[in-house]
Amino acid sequence: MDFFIRWFSGASINLKEIMSKPSHFGPVLENTLKYALQHLDALKTSPVAASASLQSLRERLCKPLNTAGIPAEQVIDDLVADTAGGIMGSAGGRFFGWVIGGALPAALAADWLTSAWDQNAASYSCGPAEAVVEEACGTWLKDLLGLPAHASFALTSGCQMAHVTALAAARNALLQRCGWHVERKGLFGAPPIRILSSDQFHGSVTRATRLLGMGTEAVIGLPASPTGQLEAEALEQALQQAPDALTIVLLQAGDLNIGAYDRFSELIPLAHRHGAWVHVDGAFGLWAHASPRHQHVLKGVELADSWATDGHKWLNVPYDSGFAFVANVDAHRSAMSYEASYITHNDGVREQKDWNPEWSRRGRGIAVYAALRQLGRQGVADLVDACCESAHELVMGISALPGAQLIWEPAVNQGLVRFHDPRPGSTENDHDRYTDAIAAAVAASGEAFFSNTTWRGMRCMRVSVCNWQTDAQDVGRAVAAVAQALERTGWRR
Ligand SMILES: *Cc1c(COP(=O)(O)O)cnc(C)c1O
Repeated sequence: MDFFIRWFSGASINLKEIMSKPSHFGPVLENTLKYALQHLDALKTSPVAASASLQSLRERLCKPLNTAGIPAEQVIDDLVADTAGGIMGSAGGRFFGWVIGGALPAALAADWLTSAWDQNAASYSCGPAEAVVEEACGTWLKDLLGLPAHASFALTSGCQMAHVTALAAARNALLQRCGWHVERKGLFGAPPIRILSSDQFHGSVTRATRLLGMGTEAVIGLPASPTGQLEAEALEQALQQAPDALTIVLLQAGDLNIGAYDRFSELIPLAHRHGAWVHVDGAFGLWAHASPRHQHVLKGVELADSWATDGHKWLNVPYDSGFAFVANVDAHRSAMSYEASYITHNDGVREQKDWNPEWSRRGRGIAVYAALRQLGRQGVADLVDACCESAHELVMGISALPGAQLIWEPAVNQGLVRFHDPRPGSTENDHDRYTDAIAAAVAASGEAFFSNTTWRGMRCMRVSVCNWQTDAQDVGRAVAAVAQALERTGWRR
């Protein structure tokens, strides 16, 4: 260092002076820490739903771009002021909408460091530690989720891109079998590929098939059983009807509405007997494997060919965290790897871009690593069990209220309830509207947030618990908020 300082001071730049200046980052980061803590500490007391209107957010945020720059601290001050009321309390314990996870303290802190380090996680040479962190994550995740140790993996932006990654590998392998090199020739003129699933598949699957050139019509949803599962007979029949068709069987490890699990140990060998590739959508549901109490729902899941799941749902890593796993390592690598002469090749290292759909990207392994270390094996199991327990208490507590009807008792962390319009002679349509009105009233109370769904033709309130912060007090407050909404519209306890 001294050498450089002496060398530099010969020129007009005085490095010593530069280094003695206060950090450009200190004030703005300290200010930001203060705002972040304010938000996190207020999650217990502030309204859960956003309160600002679209118009007011646009008025505050969509201003003309300033010509001259603004000091960093003021940028953050303005950002906090201009977004006020537009930030959902989804990081807190009384948010039960969609399937939304929180952020563990270590994961959030590591996510900040990820930005400070600003590594390009495309390859080992741009960020050696990040690349090895991802190797560690891959090994730990396969172990926790009960997947084969030899499977390849990719850390993606979410389950959507995990589907794209895994289904690209499936497409590669299936077409390879008939001598069609899809990576070179593309899909023009290739034999078609179909996807057989129960009709409860998630919309991200059809988006993946669109991106991969297979089209939405490739996905054939067979009617689910009363328990929300793909029926073996229906699958076998569909497989027999077109014995030569290239087929992916998509199985569900926890569907969005009721958390239904397909019977892997029966369906995967059946699909394999017919030469199909089996892909599992386990966006949140695959995490049940971490819990000895719940892992029986995943019996046989390790027999599949590929799996997609999320880190930003049940693992409680901040957003931008999903995982794809593929048993056929060569198919995965062929579908994703890129080789060009200017790329540094390090023998024996894992180049992330050989497995990922992205090139340059965030070092998203760091937050996953931190989350897994903070929780440990036992902590992940406890998180899964606690969410399942809270979901059960919520659904049973709400269903016991006058005017409420239990639609689906959670086996894991998802359940459904419906509300009956108290007016005499009310119809199913009225109940639909009333169910939506109750969810809206609960959101307006600020006490809790639920999102509704249409399930088997009925509007239902979906209860999803995916956050380490949800405790018994949160459950009590949420049930009380629903009770109050019901009372205000005519139901009496
Ligand atoms: C959330 C979800 C997805 C999509 O995951 P993203 O992380 O939002 O991309 C896919 N399948 C199921 C069952 C889901 O719950």
